[in-house]
Amino acid sequence: MRLFSLMAVVLGFVFQASAQHHGKSHVHGAGKMSIAFEGLAGKVTLESPSESIFGFEHVAKKESDKKKQTAALEKLEKSISEMVVFDPKLECIFKKESIQVNTEGKHSDVDASFAVACKVDPVGSTITFNIQKVFGKLTDVDVQILFGDIQKSVEATKNGIAVELKK
Ligand SMILES: [Zn+2]
Repeated sequence: MRLFSLMAVVLGFVFQASAQHHGKSHVHGAGKMSIAFEGLAGKVTLESPSESIFGFEHVAKKESDKKKQTAALEKLEKSISEMVVFDPKLECIFKKESIQVNTEGKHSDVDASFAVACKVDPVGSTITFNIQKVFGKLTDVDVQILFGDIQKSVEATKNGIAVELKK
């Protein structure tokens, strides 16, 4: 249960940051990610403009749009561990909790949540971000990281950005 209170703290940060940076509407190419862990278990969330994930933000009605959207969301599910790369020695496994498309007016967001379970505590290791390898249009991701009492924030603006999970 403590993980959820940590998540609330992280999401609070993300929320505040987004209100300051983007106002109510989002900026295409700019996403928000949170990574919160306690011990071996954690959660990764991503909020991204749909445009940066599957190329449009209208409600998918045409068959071709539906296909495009489904393929991109499947890619997100399959590739999250290539976007957020833990040290292979930790044997971390991602599991999708939910991936949703939320439309508001002319804009739409993809909101994704993954549970992560590792065999070794990631504290002291490094996380590498390769978000643009998978979604080239998602060029500015604000990441909030919380591992126990280690708190970091990073802008994942290019492939290879690494964060050490140390104080
Ligand atoms: Zn938009």
